Amino acid sequence: MNLTVSDENSQFFRQIWTILGIQSILKSDLIYKISYKLNLPYKPTALVKKITQAISDGILIEKEKLLYLNENDLKVIQREKNNFEESNKKKMLQHWNRIEESIDPWMSIIEEKTKKMDAKSLTLNAIVKAIMTEDALKEGTTIPAKKFHIQLENDALSGSIEDDTEDDLLFQIDLGKKAIFHNCKDFLENLSEKALCRHFYRIFMYVKTKDPILSKNLLVSLYSKKEEWEFKESQL
Ligand SMILES: [Zn+2]
Repeated sequence: MNLTVSDENSQFFRQIWTILGIQSILKSDLIYKISYKLNLPYKPTALVKKITQAISDGILIEKEKLLYLNENDLKVIQREKNNFEESNKKKMLQHWNRIEESIDPWMSIIEEKTKKMDAKSLTLNAIVKAIMTEDALKEGTTIPAKKFHIQLENDALSGSIEDDTEDDLLFQIDLGKKAIFHNCKDFLENLSEKALCRHFYRIFMYVKTKDPILSKNLLVSLYSKKEEWEFKESQL
């Protein structure tokens, strides 16, 4: 796709703000959206620099972890609302949805984020392999993703899983409290060993695409601090 955005910071971020239709955004989200959703030719590392520069130039304002566009550029957006062609935006959104389906968005962001951690030499896919048994992984891939109904909320995710042989299954993963609740037979039989059953494969894959940062924090914690986690039966 031939989308033109300016490389000049002020105009660049005005265009991004217009395309995304945002008021404020987390830095990690911004990097993710520019690199992978909009598929603009900027690597996460280059974007970190670009954003840092924009903050020190007063183009972006950082407040409580969120990035805002400065007042002047907001006014320019208002004045020149049609600056960025509507058709361009439509094209981009189609593209965006396609990218969403096909790309694994988390790796390069995660690699930067995990640099300081003990698990740095492992990719997150490798961590999933490390924290689940081979059987659970194999079985996990055979359960259709559509059987999972998952909600994400801050540091927690929860939901249900349709199952042919058992009643609907529940799960909850609370990263803040380091607690996992679930109620399938496998999980309950292996509670004392804190074994992740087949259902967690799809759940991890889901978080991975929806919230790369949460998935990194969650998986690294399960990998390196499993003894601090509690595994419990879901209460109906
Ligand atoms: Zn299970």
